[in-house]
Amino acid sequence: MKLQGIKIEVIKKQIKHLHLSVLPPNGIVRISAPLSVCDESIRLFAASKISWIRAQQKKFAKQLRHSKREFVSGETIYIWGKQYYLDVRLGEKNNFALKSKKAVLTVRKESSVAQREKYMRKVLRKFLKDEINRLLPIWEKKIGLKCKKWIIKYMKTRWGTYGKITETISFNLQLVHKPIECLEYIIVHELGHIKYRKHGKTFIAYMDAYLPYWRETKNKLNALTLDYIV
Ligand SMILES: [Zn+2]
Repeated sequence: MKLQGIKIEVIKKQIKHLHLSVLPPNGIVRISAPLSVCDESIRLFAASKISWIRAQQKKFAKQLRHSKREFVSGETIYIWGKQYYLDVRLGEKNNFALKSKKAVLTVRKESSVAQREKYMRKVLRKFLKDEINRLLPIWEKKIGLKCKKWIIKYMKTRWGTYGKITETISFNLQLVHKPIECLEYIIVHELGHIKYRKHGKTFIAYMDAYLPYWRETKNKLNALTLDYIV
């Protein structure tokens, strides 16, 4: 169904009321309708909600743009779950500093987006590295499991992994954008894989024992898709 240039997916099913949703990340419009409702009624229903649909689509389009960042003033960046406004200044030497709500990024005038991105990844890597260095030994001691080696990687589909053969935990660089408890959740989860290979009952019991609220943290971690912010 098409309405004022907007494509609408209609799904008829055994429900009582019409239900409209605009889905992230691309702003796809979907209407679930009871089997008995005719197309004309669905069309009227959609027409009555058109300004809301447009507003939602606009919001998602704006969020999507954030993934294609250019490292210019006004963009936002999340560090440990806190939002900062990027304030880009030109200078002789690259620098990065957090000042209350601002993230001040100093870059050379002629620097390209790729160079700024490369520098920012270096900065973010340092943020994450410092926290892993602080938190990992605390959890290793608490749990009684020690990881042989860990690395930070930029990953698109996983927050963390444990390589049995190399005995290495890989942390996704993008964890730096999430609240700190998300990093702790990944630390505990991946340390668990030293002992338990799969996410079976014993693994769940282990998670419950050390992080009783891990499910909430996991939901928080997956609330935004990967590669969404930087
Ligand atoms: Zn796992």
